[in-house]
Amino acid sequence: MKIYKLPDRDRTPVLLIFDMDGTLYTNSVYLGSQTDLLVERLAALKGKDPAGMGEEISAFREGWLRKNPGKSISLSLILEGFGVSMEENVRWREELYRPEAYLMPDPRLRETLLVLAGSRKLAVLTNNPVSIARRTLRCLGLEGIFPVLVGLDTCMVSKPQEIPFRKAAEESGVDAAGCVSIGDRYEIDLALPLEMGMGGILVDGVEDVYRLPQVLEAGLEA
Ligand SMILES: [Mg+2]
Repeated sequence: MKIYKLPDRDRTPVLLIFDMDGTLYTNSVYLGSQTDLLVERLAALKGKDPAGMGEEISAFREGWLRKNPGKSISLSLILEGFGVSMEENVRWREELYRPEAYLMPDPRLRETLLVLAGSRKLAVLTNNPVSIARRTLRCLGLEGIFPVLVGLDTCMVSKPQEIPFRKAAEESGVDAAGCVSIGDRYEIDLALPLEMGMGGILVDGVEDVYRLPQVLEAGLEA
């Protein structure tokens, strides 16, 4: 875990904006399947084999990173580069993803989030569609925990772009200086919110989330 920035001690209200995949659960097989399924679908659409499609995507990503040093590109933006609209991207994910096959209730996480919710507001911000996010929360036993949920189809733009971060803050009624973005990918979950004046905590997975109540209370580098 690495704490980049936290709101001032006396600031209230504070909103914790959680990334979902790789943050509220740790499951590399399910995470890998999400990418593979989209690449396979794109390959089928283009009449190519998945391995060749994967190489084309890697080449696209490398080209983009050369033109945008220090930035990161989401899979959704890469798909747009191959002519897949955000609407189609959302449909593919809704049709293909099966959180139920990989995830189980996490009572320790539920307990942790309830502790955090005692003195802070909570939101989820994910690059998956809202319906997948809701199914994922159900699998993890976290129904009713997050009053605000912003997904790929809420604003039809993906992280890292300002709009979905602003949306999560506005819907929660908290200004940027009171927000903390918490996620497992610096470039996707933290770089931009930090620029926007939010706090940021990088986690290695859900095991780090379990420690958040103590870490936030101490306000110290973990
Ligand atoms: Mg993530």
